Amino acid sequence: MTSSSKKPALLPAMLTMKCPSCRRSSVFINKSVFPLDKCLALKDECEICGQRMKSESNNGGGINYALTMILFFLNLLWYWPIFGLSYKDNSVFIYLGVSTFVVIIAQPYLMRLSRMIYLYLYTSFGTSRRVNIEG
Ligand SMILES: [Zn+2]
Repeated sequence: MTSSSKKPALLPAMLTMKCPSCRRSSVFINKSVFPLDKCLALKDECEICGQRMKSESNNGGGINYALTMILFFLNLLWYWPIFGLSYKDNSVFIYLGVSTFVVIIAQPYLMRLSRMIYLYLYTSFGTSRRVNIEG
């Protein structure tokens, strides 16, 4: 048996906002994005492995911008087949309005996700002070 089965997969851990070093404990203080003013509150350090969270976490704005644009265009994938887009009427503007609305609603999640991506870019698995994370 290899020990690789004990290492949680990167993508699910990132999408569920888990610590980049041990991928077991939540990075954010609140599980939900509500209350919104606390939605980006990070723990000082991971309670399982001791990985520091706050040191490099002031960034992510550029990633957030990229994610916002990606989501904006992803809205085309469901809007176009359902409602259709045409230059002949106002459908393009309605799409822009709907897409903007979706992006605003999703913003707390996008901000969290961009912060997670930032953390994962700068922290690889098992870089915390407490190396042994068994059990
Ligand atoms: Zn951890």
